[in-house]
Amino acid sequence: MRITCPDCRKPTTITHRVPLTDSIADLYCTCKHCGARSVFNLAFKQYVEPGQASAASIAAALLGLLPEEERRKLFQDNPGLLCLP
Ligand SMILES: [Zn+2]
Repeated sequence: MRITCPDCRKPTTITHRVPLTDSIADLYCTCKHCGARSVFNLAFKQYVEPGQASAASIAAALLGLLPEEERRKLFQDNPGLLCLP
């Protein structure tokens, strides 16, 4: 990850990271060009494409929101969703 110094606009160096939550952290930076020390926020925004485990848990959560009858109809209308032997 490349971070630009807000003072001189040259690349600055991340010296340490302080997690605030599981998806937000402060990045402390020191610029070797001008000596400025700065703090940036790093935050998860959204998935472009979730990993397989995340996709499965998202699908399970969404299916859990459907009433049982709608869930049953979904699987009846889309037999390819079930991969039973
Ligand atoms: Zn600088």
